Amino acid sequence: MTHGFSVFYDNGRVHETTLINPTTGLAFSTVASLDLAQCDAAIDRAAAAFPAWRAVAPSDRAKLLRRFADLVDHHLEELASLEVQNAGHTIGNARWEAGNVRDLLEYCAGGVERLTGLQIPVAGGMDVTFHEPLGVVGIIVPWNFPMPIAAWGFAPALAAGNTVVLKPAEVTPLTAIRLGELGQQAGLPDGVFQVLPGEGPVVGHRFVTNEKVAKVCFTGSTRVGTALMAACAPQVKRVTLELGGKSANIVFADSDLDRAAATAPYGVFDNAGQDCCARSRILVEDTVFDAFVERFSTAVAGVVVGDPALPETEMGPLISAAHHERVTSFLDGTSEVLFQGAAPSGEGFFFPPTVLLADSPTSRVVTEEIFGPVVVIQRFHEEDEAIRLANATNYGLSGSIWTNNLSRAVRVARAVDAGNLSVNSHSSVRYATPFGGMKQSGLGRELGPEAIRAFTETKNVFFATE
Ligand code: NAD
Repeated sequence: MTHGFSVFYDNGRVHETTLINPTTGLAFSTVASLDLAQCDAAIDRAAAAFPAWRAVAPSDRAKLLRRFADLVDHHLEELASLEVQNAGHTIGNARWEAGNVRDLLEYCAGGVERLTGLQIPVAGGMDVTFHEPLGVVGIIVPWNFPMPIAAWGFAPALAAGNTVVLKPAEVTPLTAIRLGELGQQAGLPDGVFQVLPGEGPVVGHRFVTNEKVAKVCFTGSTRVGTALMAACAPQVKRVTLELGGKSANIVFADSDLDRAAATAPYGVFDNAGQDCCARSRILVEDTVFDAFVERFSTAVAGVVVGDPALPETEMGPLISAAHHERVTSFLDGTSEVLFQGAAPSGEGFFFPPTVLLADSPTSRVVTEEIFGPVVVIQRFHEEDEAIRLANATNYGLSGSIWTNNLSRAVRVARAVDAGNLSVNSHSSVRYATPFGGMKQSGLGRELGPEAIRAFTETKNVFFATE
């Protein structure tokens, strides 16, 4: 099957990317990649559509977003199946992801008419603030959560009155392309929301260099994100970065150890560990270390790895053969493999859930983001050491704290340098709460009550009355 997007191909040569199903290792589709001229033409259309889109009455813009949300809901199974095939996500996760797009569109629709400014008391007149849309917003999406991460950018950006060009990851463009079609079907005017499949250094980089793009919203690796931020500097281009992570799951002796151990696999192996919030370091208080490891090994053995299309499957394959090779490179014998779960053999890119014992706090498995189902366990003696180990990383995205001591929970949650923490759970993402990283995990926040404002500039206007 070939996906043709004639709307973007009025001239020029069409490059194609072959898409591989990670569960089978087999090619199943091709998608055309835009070249620079096609990307510029799409940005021109977005810039041309901006004045009319920002002028749409707030209630009408909200209605369009609600209609878009309804269509996503109507096509939820189709979108979820596409993600199973294209990204190897379990069907349960993929349904949640499509539902997250729907819910965020509804949430942002509710924010359009609440994008209020301030009236500030001043001498000699009246002072008010407006939240003005930026113009064209470029959104760059990674392959690990193609649907939600696309929506975390486009839903609030559209709600604020911006037009959007969105580049999905090369290997996982299908759900974003379908969302673009559903947006059009909902009645978004031409040029308001365009999905541009293509290569990062071509289309993604063009969002940075094209002066008609006012803001770039990037989610991906810290390596690409830092280069992108530097490239935005000459234009003082607005930028949001959501980057990598190496988050800690801290288990204190005073926690519910059964629950902490039973849930720990799902805090790191969900989406086969290809999750920026994966709790890929488990720090365990030494007095309960052995008891935790025993329970944890039973829980890891119970993780159901297999065909992601089956409802009982809890973990599917890695995204690609190249990524499988990269994850494998971390098992180089320097850290002891404590135990591994099961994984299907065959042509798919499956990797078993793997638990390593940290050999040193500076070893590669402790410091680098593996982005696969590999977790490293470390011991600590007391609260201060747990905090020090948790913070001994350049990343600061997420993490969990397991304790039944309320005061400790508050102390540790305030002391760990991470943007999203959960106590006695592993939850990170809710559309109604802010999400983003400290340190080298990112810049800015997405989702939550401020989501729409992140796609506006505050303008202050003073009206003299004397
Ligand atoms: P990546 O940085 O290789 O690619 C991300 C996107 O950037 C892709 O669309 C890619 O085509 C594009 N890109 C590549 N080079 C570019 C360039 N020179 N200019 C502009 N765009 C370019 O990352 P990936 O491998 O797709 O995703 C995995 C990474 O994403 C992990 O590090 C993960 O932690 C991170 N991530 C972070 C969050 C978060 O919210 N903090 C969420 C998901 C993933």
